[in-house]
Amino acid sequence: MKVKVPQKIRIISHTYDIKMRRELRVDEGFDGTLNFRTHELCIDPVTLGDQRDQVFWHEILEGLNYALSLKLPHDDLDRIAEGFNYIFQELNINLDWSEIKEG
Ligand SMILES: [Zn+2]
Repeated sequence: MKVKVPQKIRIISHTYDIKMRRELRVDEGFDGTLNFRTHELCIDPVTLGDQRDQVFWHEILEGLNYALSLKLPHDDLDRIAEGFNYIFQELNINLDWSEIKEG
């Protein structure tokens, strides 16, 4: 089952625009970023398939970590994102990125 990624997502009380950003990996050293100032969740389009989905889950967790002041270490966000990605693959749930534009 494909689940469409929306152009905006609300994480508790913060709403983020979801965008593809070329060269994010080269410029910032990450495949995805969540910017609390600009309210943008950006993903480098070089990511593909379940790797891209996992980056998305990671950024969602960054947003929860921030909004709820969880203070989870960054490595734990990676581990939880890996766990979610595993479960969603097992359930045959994949993200559909067709509505996400470059910005
Ligand atoms: Zn991160």
